[in-house]
Amino acid sequence: MSAIDALPPLRQVITDHGLSARKSLGQNFLLDLNLTSKIARQAGDLSGCDVLEIGPGPGGLTRGLLSEGARKVLAIEKDARCLPALSEIEAAYPGRLDVINADALELDPLMYLTPPIRVVANLPYNVGTELLIRWLTPANWPPYWDSLTLMFQREVAERIVAQPRSKTYGRLAVLASWRCDARIAMHLPPEAFTPPPKVSSAVVHLTALPEPRFPADAKVLERVVAKAFNQRRKMLRAALKGVAPDIEDRLITAGIKPTDRAETVGLEQFCALAELI
Ligand code: SAM
Repeated sequence: MSAIDALPPLRQVITDHGLSARKSLGQNFLLDLNLTSKIARQAGDLSGCDVLEIGPGPGGLTRGLLSEGARKVLAIEKDARCLPALSEIEAAYPGRLDVINADALELDPLMYLTPPIRVVANLPYNVGTELLIRWLTPANWPPYWDSLTLMFQREVAERIVAQPRSKTYGRLAVLASWRCDARIAMHLPPEAFTPPPKVSSAVVHLTALPEPRFPADAKVLERVVAKAFNQRRKMLRAALKGVAPDIEDRLITAGIKPTDRAETVGLEQFCALAELI
C-alpha cells in the first residue's frame, strides 16, 4: 500500500478511531489507497467537478477522490463514529471536503453542490439499489449529476447492465438504459474489503444521456416495470393486471404480445406502454 497523501494508513485509522465494521450499516471498508484511487479514476477527470460520495466510512475512497483532484467532495455518512477520521482528511485538504452526518435517504444534497457534479461511492449494500433508483428516476432530465460511479455486489452490477432475454434483465436494466449509458468498469474480489463480504463486487459507471432514449413518465415507467418483473414468469397480461383497465389492448398498442413475459420486452416497448398508462 503506497501513500497517496500524508495521512496515516487506513488500517491505523480504523484502529485509532475504533471503527469496527457494523453489518447493519453495510460496512465493508476499502483499505488499499491504490485501489481507491483506481476507483476514483473510473469517474474520469475530476479536477473541475464536485463529487458526491455516499458513505465515506473511514475515508479510503474520499482520499482517492481528493488525491485524484476532485474540486470538492461532499461526503454523507450516517455513522457518527467516522466523523473524527473524516475531520483529519478535511484538515489535510483544506476547503475541499464537506462532511454531513446524515442518512443519505433523508437528505437532498443538491444545495451543497455546484455543477458539474459526479457521484462516486462504495455504497452500503442495504440502500444502494434504492439510491440508484432515485438517481435514475427524477421527474426532470438531465439530472443534477453527470455520472454515477458506484460499487455494488457483482450480481446487482450485472442486473444494471443486463440485456433483454437474459436472466439478470429487469427493472434496474430498463431504468438504467432508458436514461444512461451503463457499463461495468471494474470487478473486485471479496478480499479487497475489510471485512470481506460473502460475494464479489463490481464498479458500475453510468453516464447521464442528454435526454431519455424514449419518452415516458419516470414514475409510471418505474411502476410498470417493477410490476412486470415482480412476477417475471407470468405472462404480461397477468403480471400487469390491475395496472390499468384494458391492459391487453394497451399491451398490443405498445407492440407487446399479452402472452409475452417481461424479460423479452425491450426498452422502447416498455416506454410505449408507460405512455399509454
Ligand atoms: N467508502 C468507504 C470505503 O469504501 O471504505 C465505506 C464504504 S461501506 C461499504 C458503506 C458506508 O456507508 C459505511 O461507512 C456506512 O456507515 C455508510 N452508510 C450506511 N448507510 C448509510 C446511509 N443510509 N446514509 C449514509 N451513509 C450510510
